[in-house]
Amino acid sequence: MTTLRLAIVGAGPAGIYAADIILKAEKQFDVSIDLFEQLPAPYGLVRYGVAPDHPRIKGIITALREVLDTGRIRLFGNVLYGRDITLDDLKKHYNAVIFSTGAVRDADLAIPGIDLDGSYGAADFVSWFDGHPDVPREWPLEAREVAVIGNGNVALDVARMLAKHAEDLLPTEIPDNVHAGLAASPVTDVHVFGRRGPAQVKFTPLELRELGELRDVDMILHEEDFDYDEASKAAIASNKQVLVIDRVLTQWRARETGAASRRLHLHFYAKPVEVLGENGKVSGFRWERTRPDGAGGVEGTGEMRELPIQAIYRAVGYFGSPLDGIPFDEKRGVIPNREGQVLDDDGHEVPGVYATGWIKRGPVGLIGHTKSDAMETIRNLINGQASWWAPEHPDEQSVIDLLAERGIEYTDLDGWHNLDQHELGLGEAAGRTRIKVVPRDEMVAVSNKR
Ligand SMILES: Cc1cc2nc3c(=O)[nH]c(=O)nc-3n(C[C@H](O)[C@H](O)[C@H](O)COP(=O)(O)OP(=O)(O)OC[C@H]3O[C@@H](n4cnc5c(N)ncnc54)[C@H](O)[C@@H]3O)c2cc1C
Repeated sequence: MTTLRLAIVGAGPAGIYAADIILKAEKQFDVSIDLFEQLPAPYGLVRYGVAPDHPRIKGIITALREVLDTGRIRLFGNVLYGRDITLDDLKKHYNAVIFSTGAVRDADLAIPGIDLDGSYGAADFVSWFDGHPDVPREWPLEAREVAVIGNGNVALDVARMLAKHAEDLLPTEIPDNVHAGLAASPVTDVHVFGRRGPAQVKFTPLELRELGELRDVDMILHEEDFDYDEASKAAIASNKQVLVIDRVLTQWRARETGAASRRLHLHFYAKPVEVLGENGKVSGFRWERTRPDGAGGVEGTGEMRELPIQAIYRAVGYFGSPLDGIPFDEKRGVIPNREGQVLDDDGHEVPGVYATGWIKRGPVGLIGHTKSDAMETIRNLINGQASWWAPEHPDEQSVIDLLAERGIEYTDLDGWHNLDQHELGLGEAAGRTRIKVVPRDEMVAVSNKR
């Protein structure tokens, strides 16, 4: 029986599910999988995106770990595709590659003032509070009044992490430096702005409800936002999720406020116009009031409003990054593909190259969606056997020799087990779930201690 030597680049949920699915698929060949990951630890945004106070979602790591622990996948962590290993290398050692590199950058928000000091992308803040090794340890939390732009779950994560009292995060896996930073934050008011109405938000009821459960934080809503048009009423009547969101918001509107030391304000029908500044620093936010356009969208009213703020976070979406030698759609931030089979600029199939997860279809959808994604990609990979590469060095040892020759200090699955145990041990000693190791060199050193 022939053996498919498969490289997967990116050990987030998409890459791990793809490995799992091909191992279990009915096929006329054996498969040997090497999973390359630029970080010393696997799991992508489950470890470095999902908020630390979402332990249930973080728990998906257990299922992903079971896949890695089958012993049928080799993990090469701390190996960056494009620098440590190239497309030419992969062609020499494998029959095919799947890119599952996700999306880690913030999408742009092109309004004046967005580059002022005190204006941040949500992705950077998320990386900081989740202990990503490649962002600075310190995060400037000096603002009392903060704006968060966006009406998706990431905007709610950012708003919640800013408004929540730091001691309420202590039982989670929050890194020590993050706890210290948040504990010193003088924040009193977090304002979340969405362009459309409460019946058109992108966040989900569970994540919304959590905001109202924050200790010592009042939810502030504005009655003018709840004068629903026919399209909004129809959305509430026909969509269970919108109905639940409306119910949650209605309950909050009836709540007494005024006693809490922090407030979380939800502003709807607010289109960002400008970040205002003084001496190069954020000093305010200007938006245009919008109104329903009768068809489920909104239109501008021309009425401008302003609020003093000292920091602003844009949570308007993530964006994929291009990979060396691989076609890239600059507009959508994805690898162009047909059901996971990568296509060149002329729409022709690129033999042996596949994509899955957020880099395949854009940064939308939950972790579970990456599973169905992977099924589609694997189906195409299996059917595309005739166009796989014919590698010069298909043996499993040769890629290890290559990394060694280049002096790349990679981490492997045993290394991840070491790091995992170490972090859990640090957590246990402090009465916490886990304490993440943040610096990359320390992650590598702990992983590779034998
Ligand atoms: C802030 C935030 C919160 C979220 N919360 C939830 C939630 O609560 N529930 C939920 O279901 N979903 C949540 N999601 C969505 C979920 O994280 C994604 O659906 C999922 O992680 C996408 O998987 P992926 O494998 O495509 O990408 P990723 O998880 O991003 O994994 C990609 C991996 O590829 C690696 N990589 C990138 N470039 C290279 C390279 N050049 N060489 C080697 N490796 C590389 C990265 O380091 C990363 O490990 C959240 C997302 C964000 C951003």
